[in-house]
Amino acid sequence: MTAFDWGGALVPYPADVAEAYRTSGEWSELPTGRRFHDAALADPDRPALITADGTLTYRELDERTDQIAAAFGARGLAPRDPVIFQVTNRLATVLAWYGCLKAGLIPVATLAQHRMHEIGHIGPKVGAVAHIVETGLSFDLVGFARDVAAQQPAMAHLFTVGERAEGVDRIEELGVDIDPADARAFVESVEAGIASEDVAVFQLSGGTTGVPKVIPRIHAEYWNNALFYARALDWSADSLVGHLIPVIHNAGISCALHAAHSVGATLVLANPDHVAAFALMSDAGVTDLLIGHGHYRAVQSPEFEPLLATVRHTVLSGAKVSADLFARVDDGGRRWAGQMFGMSEGMFMVSTLDSPARFRSSTVGWAIAPSDEIRILEPGRETELADGEVGELCCRGPYTIRGYFDAAEHNASAFTSDGFYRTGDLAAVRRDADGRPNLSIEGRIKDLINRGGEKVNAEEVEVLLMRHPGIAAAAVVAMPDARLGEKVCAFVVAGEGASELSMTQVQGHMDGLGVAKFKWPERLVWVAELPKTNVGKINKKSLRADVAALLESEGAQS
Ligand code: AMP
Repeated sequence: MTAFDWGGALVPYPADVAEAYRTSGEWSELPTGRRFHDAALADPDRPALITADGTLTYRELDERTDQIAAAFGARGLAPRDPVIFQVTNRLATVLAWYGCLKAGLIPVATLAQHRMHEIGHIGPKVGAVAHIVETGLSFDLVGFARDVAAQQPAMAHLFTVGERAEGVDRIEELGVDIDPADARAFVESVEAGIASEDVAVFQLSGGTTGVPKVIPRIHAEYWNNALFYARALDWSADSLVGHLIPVIHNAGISCALHAAHSVGATLVLANPDHVAAFALMSDAGVTDLLIGHGHYRAVQSPEFEPLLATVRHTVLSGAKVSADLFARVDDGGRRWAGQMFGMSEGMFMVSTLDSPARFRSSTVGWAIAPSDEIRILEPGRETELADGEVGELCCRGPYTIRGYFDAAEHNASAFTSDGFYRTGDLAAVRRDADGRPNLSIEGRIKDLINRGGEKVNAEEVEVLLMRHPGIAAAAVVAMPDARLGEKVCAFVVAGEGASELSMTQVQGHMDGLGVAKFKWPERLVWVAELPKTNVGKINKKSLRADVAALLESEGAQS
């Protein structure tokens, strides 16, 4: 079956390459929802999901998501309709996710923190027709969804997870009265029309220029990406996988939800509050855990202690790992620690289980699929560098995209002439005593701030700041932060005759533009002018040094 034609917006894999991935078994012909159903049939009574809201076995999750899919269909949603997700890590989030996939709908992996600036751009970009929002959060997402629908006439359907909202269908109750056999028949009829190269999910990229780019992940590869990850860590049906970072993120789906279910394991899904999360996880007996940089400190806290009794594998990701942190989760025996490096565009690396501790604590291991290809290239060129040399990490493989969605101009520079994705990350290959490669992450070229895992595009924030009449110029750089890794620091030049704005005024400006809060500057440095390089570009290196000096002098004073 041929995939749906998005009018050239989707960059296909070359036919011979796709064929090779099928032959090697790295691509699948089955739709993603079907992969979950097959896992459920294999061991229906095993717990599939444990959350603070409740627990579901594979059978329960499978049957409920069949019903939800059928209810979506009954409300007029059709295969390939994109659905915007603004929810946190709840049981009903998982119901909504698999329900969408089984109805052939395309989840759009937006975040609960996104606002009109983001949703106003992404919704029309993908042609979203439905919005799933969480109720009971401090921000009224139902009211927000209604504002979005007023601006985007195509967004005709609204659903909630969480508390009941007047006049809106709740995922928790959706389709409960549909006969399970009818629901299954509906799902199978949808699946008969899904091609393996059809889009399964739209993920978002932090982007390197302007607004976030849309990442189309296809059925042939998306579930298998997760399966490769699970296999790399030797997960089995007996694994209990703990996760507390946003599950709708690609890492959440590929390293937790799909990965756990691809091998029949149990997912213990918690929210980022580490006290509640660690309690839920230790009660459940979590064996495998992914810790993002935002929780590195929490691992050192007393609340983590009970987990040490059950956790076998801890994967750390997002920033360099200190010796203390590594020793906390790796005892050289039963407790193993490693690192992961990955991206929504595809490529994942993880420490190899039998790799020496020295490599697991200092590198991110190696790619997880047999046909993954890694090149370290001279930045901006296509010249390959030797092992040990630092250059731009570029990758290609069975689950790495060949192009962003509807972004021909950007794709021309984001990929090499032979289809390798230019990650914008700086890395070097280090070989162990047996000659096996490991990747060490050495920095990045792309102008992003990584705020506890959420990527903030510097240029996007600069443009937004300069929309204020009181700001003539702005340059945004990362400011080191002990908990989140990095925060947004803006160097700003006041407009002619304007006085310096207060932080509250700048926050009010960003709020007024409907920008997600995690992108707002957390420090303003007013300067008379921005430093330039000798080719006339803003000298961010010098600004980063200024931030470091500022922090150091404040540290010295306190
Ligand atoms: P995302 O698509 O949001 O998952 O972001 C992918 C980007 O996050 C990568 O290109 C890196 O810049 C960064 N990243 C992911 N894993 C790591 C890691 N282990 N260490 C440092 N940066 C990372």
